[in-house]
Amino acid sequence: MADPTNSQLRRRRGLLIVLSSPSGAGKSTISRMLLESDPHITLSISATTRPMRPGEVEGVDYHFVDEAEFQRMVREGEFAEWAPVFDHHYGSPQAPIKAALREGRDVIFDIDWQGTQQLHAAMGEDLVRVFILPPSMKELDRRLHERGTDSDEVIAGRMQRAAAEISHWAEYDYVLINEDMDECLREVRSILDAERLKRWRQAGLVSFVRDLVASSPA
Ligand code: GDP
Ligand code: ADP
Repeated sequence: MADPTNSQLRRRRGLLIVLSSPSGAGKSTISRMLLESDPHITLSISATTRPMRPGEVEGVDYHFVDEAEFQRMVREGEFAEWAPVFDHHYGSPQAPIKAALREGRDVIFDIDWQGTQQLHAAMGEDLVRVFILPPSMKELDRRLHERGTDSDEVIAGRMQRAAAEISHWAEYDYVLINEDMDECLREVRSILDAERLKRWRQAGLVSFVRDLVASSPA
């Protein structure tokens, strides 16, 4: 039988966790692994005007939209944040985030520093910011080539912008170096575990403590 105390304590407000990194450092891989192993977390699926890569699926990796549709979504206030990244537009739809928070689910975002700043301004304490660094620039370049999804020209562009992305590392709450994937995943899980236990996220605590004290035999 479920322990009523535990389930009461687990009733909590959901949180938003952002993973940012230079392209190729491994944030999509880490978030995918986290999503597979944690039923309380959902991915915020961004809309983007960039072309679909081989192997990507509409509505799973991104909502692939054209520039006119993206601009309509901007005008109608459908994004919690949006930004130009590389030569395209990217944005996080608002509605699924609000629904998840209400239902006590956590949401993970794979977005850049511009989007993180906007979410931080809008969501305040609901947001947990994690920056992922590569162990070296040489390894970052190797990973982008190994992924095999982009042309040499696109990879060169991403490497050129990596230093600019990295320059925002100090705006984040946590900074991880993704050398070993399993270790990095373990670290993200520890962050989530600790953040979920923050006093003000545990909606059931106030009444639990009140009942606890009232039930004292003394
Ligand atoms: P990848 O990072 O090499 O896999 O390339 P993508 O084209 O998938 O993403 C490019 C950049 O856009 C990454 O830094 C993402 O974190 C960022 N990005 C993706 N979705 C969003 C979004 O909704 N908002 C913002 N601000 N950035 C996003
Ligand atoms: P990002 O989402 O940050 O652009 P990806 O998650 O697509 O990066 O990872 C880029 C490539 O690097 C992928 O081929 C992925 O399998 C690989 N990768 C990610 N983390 C590691 C790691 N710790 N060690 C070796 N390869 C990694």
